[in-house]
Amino acid sequence: MDIYNILPLGCILFLFFLVCLLVFLLIRRHLLLTQERLHNSDLSKRLKALMKNFSAIAQQKDDLERINEMRSKFISVTAHDLKQPITLINGYSSLLRETLSQENLKLLDNIDKATSTIERLTRDLGDVSSAQYATMKLSKSKFIFNDFIEEIFKQYKSAAAQKKISLLFTPYPEPIEINADRFRLEQVFSNLLSNALKFTLQDGTIEIRYTLEENKIKVLVKDDGLGITPTDRIKIFDKFQQSDFIDENFKKQGWGLGLAIAKEIINAHGGEIGADSAGRGTGSTFWLTIPLANAK
Ligand code: ADP
Repeated sequence: MDIYNILPLGCILFLFFLVCLLVFLLIRRHLLLTQERLHNSDLSKRLKALMKNFSAIAQQKDDLERINEMRSKFISVTAHDLKQPITLINGYSSLLRETLSQENLKLLDNIDKATSTIERLTRDLGDVSSAQYATMKLSKSKFIFNDFIEEIFKQYKSAAAQKKISLLFTPYPEPIEINADRFRLEQVFSNLLSNALKFTLQDGTIEIRYTLEENKIKVLVKDDGLGITPTDRIKIFDKFQQSDFIDENFKKQGWGLGLAIAKEIINAHGGEIGADSAGRGTGSTFWLTIPLANAK
């Protein structure tokens, strides 16, 4: 076979190869475009679904905030409106006190005790709902802490004696000045001491001590009562939390708000609050710090 016979065959084969390559490239391009289109439509579908979820979540967040605000308003209005009848009960009770026999006075003492529990619970509720709206507003003034804490100790002496609990107080030799909201701090110590009295058994001991640390004062309220488990130690400073193991009778006497409010107040002063305990039945030490009046 000479060259003139092979040439047209070679040309035909070459042309055939070129056509095949072209077809292959066209099919490949078509496949890539289809794949890209599919991918894009999948992405846009996913994006649409995400946007839909996002706006649903935003709507839910708005709804929850509205419900939360309504709930806080409801609580604060209820707490506020309960104050007036409580004041009336206290007024009538002191009028009655002057006319009653010794035996009936004991009954009146029970009424007063129950009223002061309701008073404390309503105050806690009011505080916790207002603390949710804004950070706590403080009305600060400079005063000597030593006198302030000694006054509180004296207020609780008789309540401790009634329960046959020794309430001990160790004063500090030098005057310590703080810049704080007196009323709010009183609320914190009342809570710590009423808790200590509540959770300490007869013949127990409660101690109030305070020391000076660098730029702050550290106060300890130590009792040898029921104690706190390691899991409850942090939890009890959250709203509506109580130790799991305490019995129903104790639980009913509070709402688990006092320590949460105390924490809010101490934090608003730039201090810290916490509790230490070696566990159930080993007593507890509640501690807090408050910056000194001249602290930078
Ligand atoms: P409540 O008014 O319910 O006592 P608090 O916030 O004051 O609320 O206290 C929360 C919980 O912390 C209490 O219910 C109790 O379980 C625990 N607690 C507080 N003080 C003491 C204490 N001194 N000893 C043992 N447990 C305590």
